[in-house]
Amino acid sequence: MIFREINQVEASNSDRIVIVGGGTLGLYAAHELARRGKEILVIESGAESLGNFDPVTYDSIGKTHEGIRIGRSKSLGGTSNLWGGQLVEFQPVDFQGRDWLPDSKWPVTYEEVASYHQQTYENLGVGKEFQDDASVFKQAGVSDPGFRNGLELFLTRWLKIPSMAVAYGEEIRSSERMKVLLEHSVVGFEVSGATITGVRILDSKGASLVIKGSMFILACGTFEISRLLLHSASNQAELCPWKDNQNIGRYFQDHLIGRVASVEILDRKRFFNTFSTIVRAGQKFQPKLRLRDEALRNERILNLYGMMAFESSVSENLVYLKQFLKAAIFSRKINGLGDLFRNLFACWKHLLPLMWKYVVANRVFVPSTSKVSLHIQSEQPVMSESRITINPEVRDATGLPKVILDWRTGSEELPSIREFAKRVDAVFQASGLARLHIEDALTRGDEQFLSTLRDNYHQVGGARMGFSAQDGVVDKNLKVFGTENLYVVGASTFRTSGNANTTFTALTFVTRLMDQIAS
Ligand SMILES: Cc1cc2nc3c(=O)[nH]c(=O)nc-3n(C[C@H](O)[C@H](O)[C@H](O)COP(=O)(O)OP(=O)(O)OC[C@H]3O[C@@H](n4cnc5c(N)ncnc54)[C@H](O)[C@@H]3O)c2cc1C
Repeated sequence: MIFREINQVEASNSDRIVIVGGGTLGLYAAHELARRGKEILVIESGAESLGNFDPVTYDSIGKTHEGIRIGRSKSLGGTSNLWGGQLVEFQPVDFQGRDWLPDSKWPVTYEEVASYHQQTYENLGVGKEFQDDASVFKQAGVSDPGFRNGLELFLTRWLKIPSMAVAYGEEIRSSERMKVLLEHSVVGFEVSGATITGVRILDSKGASLVIKGSMFILACGTFEISRLLLHSASNQAELCPWKDNQNIGRYFQDHLIGRVASVEILDRKRFFNTFSTIVRAGQKFQPKLRLRDEALRNERILNLYGMMAFESSVSENLVYLKQFLKAAIFSRKINGLGDLFRNLFACWKHLLPLMWKYVVANRVFVPSTSKVSLHIQSEQPVMSESRITINPEVRDATGLPKVILDWRTGSEELPSIREFAKRVDAVFQASGLARLHIEDALTRGDEQFLSTLRDNYHQVGGARMGFSAQDGVVDKNLKVFGTENLYVVGASTFRTSGNANTTFTALTFVTRLMDQIAS
C-alpha cells in the first residue's frame, strides 16, 4: 500500500523490515520478502512521477561522469524507470581474484552466486528454456560461428517489463504486507550498540520522525548509500558502528563504453544471422562478444565485452516508435500523435520488413544500409583514490551533505581495450566474417582515446564486500561490518565490475539475502 503522509505509518512497529529506497533492488527485495510472509516498509524519497536528484546534492570532480547527473532516478521504481532491463551474468574469473588485478578477489565464490541465477531469472519472468545461451541460439537457428583464440559469442537477456514500479505496481498498491512511504528521505540512524533500532526520516516540509524496525536494508543507490554512511560516521561519531571504516566511498568504478572500430562485413548473411537481436516469446536476446576466462588469464587483461552497433538514417525514428509502443502498452498513455505519424512516415518503407523480421524470423530488423561498428564495455582496475566523499559545508534541504565523486581511470584500460579489438579483428578475418578498422588513437595506444569513452551508468563501489572491516564495508552476506542488522544491496557492494551490466548480479545477491533472511 502506498502512503505519502508521515502520520499514516506506524512509527514504533519494531517487527518489520525497513528498506531504504524503493528503486530497482528495493522493490525487488520488498516483493521477495512479502512473498515469504514478511512485513515490509519501503521508504522512498521520490514520488510516483519521474524525478531527478537536485544538482545541489552532488558534484563530479574527476573524469566527467554523466551517470551521477542523468544515470539515476529519484522516484518509485528508481533507475528501473530509465534502464533497458538488460540482464548480464558475471564470469567465474570476475570473482576469483586475478594476480594482475590487485584487490580483485571477492569473499564469495562464483559458484555460490551462480547457484541463485536460476531462481533470480525465474523471479524476473525469464523462463527455464531461455536461461541457457546454447538453447536460445539453437531455437533461433544460429550456428556456432566457430570463433577461435578465446573469443566467444554469448547472450544478454532483456526484461519484458523493465520498470519495477510497473512490474510490481498492483502488489505495491494492494499488499497489506508491503507498505511504501513516498516522498520521505532517510537522513540518519538510531543506534544502540551494534544494533540499528531505527532510521530518521524527513518529509518535504521538514517534519522528522524515527521509524523503528528489526532489520534495515540500504537500497538507495551507490551515491546515496555512501552519502548516508559517511554522513552518519561524521555526524554521530560516538555512536556509529562504522565510524572508523576507511573503505566507505572508496574503490568507485563504472564501465567505460564507446566505439572502437568500424566493421567491414565480408559475409553479410552470416554476420547478420550471428549478431542481430533474437526475439523469443516477446523477450529479446542480444548476441555479444567476450573472452573466455582462460584467454583473460593468459593475456592478463581487464574483462570487457564487445557489441555491434547498427546505425541507419532511420535509427532514431525506429527508437521513437519502440518507445511509443512501450509507453502505450505499459502506462496505457498515448501522447504526441503528431510525432508518431512523423516517425512512421520517415520509416514507412521499413515497416513491413520490420514486422516480418519480428513476427516470422524472430529477429530485430536492421536496415541493410546500416553502418556497423564495434563498441566495447570495459572493466576498470580497483583504485582506492577513485572515490565518493562528502562535503559537510554544503548541505541540501534534508541536511545531508553534498556528494563529491572523483572518478578515475587507470593505466590498464587502454592496453586491454586495444588487445580485445585486435583479437576480434583477427578472429573475424580468420572466419571470413568481417574486418575491423580500429580507431587510430587506440591502435597507437594514445591516452586521448580514453576521453572518447564514457561511463555506462553502472556505479560500482563505495560499500564494497570485504574479508574484514579493514578491507571492506559489508561482509560476504552484505551486512555492514560492526552492525547486527544493517544490510546494503546493489553494485556499491561489488569489488570488481567484470564486463557485465551490474543489475542482474545485484539482484542475484538480493535473492540470496532474502533466502537467508527468510530462513
Ligand atoms: C539509461 C540507463 C540504462 C541502464 N541499463 C542497464 C541495463 O540494461 N542493465 C543493467 O544491469 N543496468 C542498467 N543500468 C543501471 C541500472 O539501472 C542501475 O544500476 C540499477 O537500476 C540501480 O538499482 P538500485 O536499486 O541500486 O538504485 P535505484 O534504482 O536508483 O534506486 C534507489 C532508490 O533510492 C531512493 N533514495 C535515494 N536516497 C534515499 C534516501 N536517503 N531515502 C529514501 N530513498 C532514497 C531513490 O530515490 C531511488 O528511487 C542502466 C541505467 C541507466 C540510467
